[in-house]
Amino acid sequence: MPECLADFLATTLKGQRPTSEAQAQGSCAYGAVRWQWLDEGVLQLEPEYTGGARSETLKSVLLSAGVHGDETAPIELLSQMVADLAAGRLALACRLLVVLGNVAAMRAATRYEDDDLNRLFGGRHARVPQSREAPRAVVLETAAQRFFADAPVLPGARWHLDMHTAIRASAFEQFALLPYTGDAPSRAMFDWLADARIAAVLIHTEKGATYSSFTADACGALACTLELGKVQPFGQNDLARFAPADAAVRRLVSGAQAAEDEPMPRVFTVIGQITKQSDAFALHVAADVPNFTPFARGTVLAEDGTYRYVVAHDEERIVFPNPTVKPGLRAGLLVVDTTAETLASLS
Ligand SMILES: [Zn+2]
Repeated sequence: MPECLADFLATTLKGQRPTSEAQAQGSCAYGAVRWQWLDEGVLQLEPEYTGGARSETLKSVLLSAGVHGDETAPIELLSQMVADLAAGRLALACRLLVVLGNVAAMRAATRYEDDDLNRLFGGRHARVPQSREAPRAVVLETAAQRFFADAPVLPGARWHLDMHTAIRASAFEQFALLPYTGDAPSRAMFDWLADARIAAVLIHTEKGATYSSFTADACGALACTLELGKVQPFGQNDLARFAPADAAVRRLVSGAQAAEDEPMPRVFTVIGQITKQSDAFALHVAADVPNFTPFARGTVLAEDGTYRYVVAHDEERIVFPNPTVKPGLRAGLLVVDTTAETLASLS
C-alpha cells in the first residue's frame, strides 16, 4: 500500500508529494477502491466499478479535519480511516473526499498562521490576498466544487462533515453547527447526528464564511461543523471519547445501518449576537465560561459605552464568547432552545 494511504497524516506533514501521475493514483483494498491524490492533504477514494455504470444513488461524502491546524484528534481519526479503507478493513460505499484543511498550521501546531481559515470561505479569502491562508481556502473550495460537480443532485446524496475540537469547555461536550441554508434542517442529517451521539445542534440564521457554510451554499451539501470536545497535541488525544462520532462517520462511509434509538440532539437557534463596539467593551461573563451556559431574562451580558446586551428571552445561552476580537466584530453568539419546533419541522 502506498505510504500516503498507510499514513496520510504523516506523509502530509512531511510534505511528501507524488512525483509522477502514476504515483498519484491507483487501486487499493484488494482492488475494491480507486484512490487519487489530488493535492496536499486532499485525497479522493471511490469504489472501483467493474463495467457497470456508477449508481446514481451513491452518496458523495466530504470529510474534513484540521481546518484549524491544532485540532488534532479528528485529523488522526481521518488518517486512520483512510488506512482502514485502503487495507480493506472498512468497506467504501460512497465517493469520498478526505481533506486535511490547514496543513501549514498543522505542521506549526497552531490554529492558523495569518487568518482563521474557517472565516475565509465563500470568497472571503479575496479580501486578504496576502494571508498565508488565502490560497488554501481557494484550494479547498475548488476541491469541494470539483468533487460535488460529479455527484447526483438527489436529496441526501451530498454530505460534508467538517470535524473540529473546541477551544473551551461546553455544557454539551460534543455539538454540531448547521449553516444557514434557507431550508428546514434535514432529517437525514439529524438522524446521523443522533447516531453520532451529538448532544446539541446550533442552527445559524445567517450565512457564514465557514467551510461547511460554503459546501451547503455552493455545493448543495448536507453540511455541518462538528465540535468534538477539547484539543490535545498529536498523539495525546483520548480517541475513545471520539469513538461514537468516529463510528457514525464510518457507518456513513461504509453504508452500514445506523445505531437505533439514539436520542435526537437538543436544538438551539441563534437569536442574537454581542458586538464589540470599541476598546471600552466589557463582557460580564467569565473569560472561560462554557459554551451554552444559560442566562436568565434581564441579565446584562455586555456593555460598551451606551451599548448594552441584555437577555430578552426567558433564557438565552452564550456560545463562543470572545471579548478579544477587534471592534466591530462578534464577541459572542446567543441562542435559544428550539428543540420541539425544529424536530417537528425536519424535511
Ligand atoms: Zn475548529
